Amino acid sequence: MSAFDDVYEGNARFAESFSNAKLTGRAARGLAVVTCMDSRIDPLGLLGLQPGDAKILRNAGARVTDDVLRTLVLAVYVLGVERVLLMPHTDCGMAKVTDADVHAMAAARGVDTRSLEYHTIANQEEALRHDLLRIRATPFLPAGMPVAGAIYDVHTGRLNPSSF
Ligand SMILES: [Zn+2]
Repeated sequence: MSAFDDVYEGNARFAESFSNAKLTGRAARGLAVVTCMDSRIDPLGLLGLQPGDAKILRNAGARVTDDVLRTLVLAVYVLGVERVLLMPHTDCGMAKVTDADVHAMAAARGVDTRSLEYHTIANQEEALRHDLLRIRATPFLPAGMPVAGAIYDVHTGRLNPSSF
């Protein structure tokens, strides 16, 4: 018995009816989506997409970090991405704590995380604006590439496109 038996069993069932063998690693719809790791988000399902359609980048809070930028640059020049949707969501755990809170929670378990930046979110609109600007302003992506932001509502399933 391992801690992962359930998922290995799940995969065995999945592989029995596997039908995506012909897909390539290129994003068929030319789309990259940056979203949160929140377990309520089904990025493909909520956007009407199928496996093979889009690159999905996920982290805590859908924040645009150096590694997200690195991955977007690769996705554009190597994997067929031509547009980016930045998609944070309502009720995000990253908007409910501060970096100091998380350091304290780790410290309570004897771990010093103060060398980590969590990029917690004080104001979601502001964070979205900041992160959109980070993608639009990077010199490494083609000028004029479509970059949009939209907040996913985890209670209605609706996407609310941002005006900036
Ligand atoms: Zn989240």
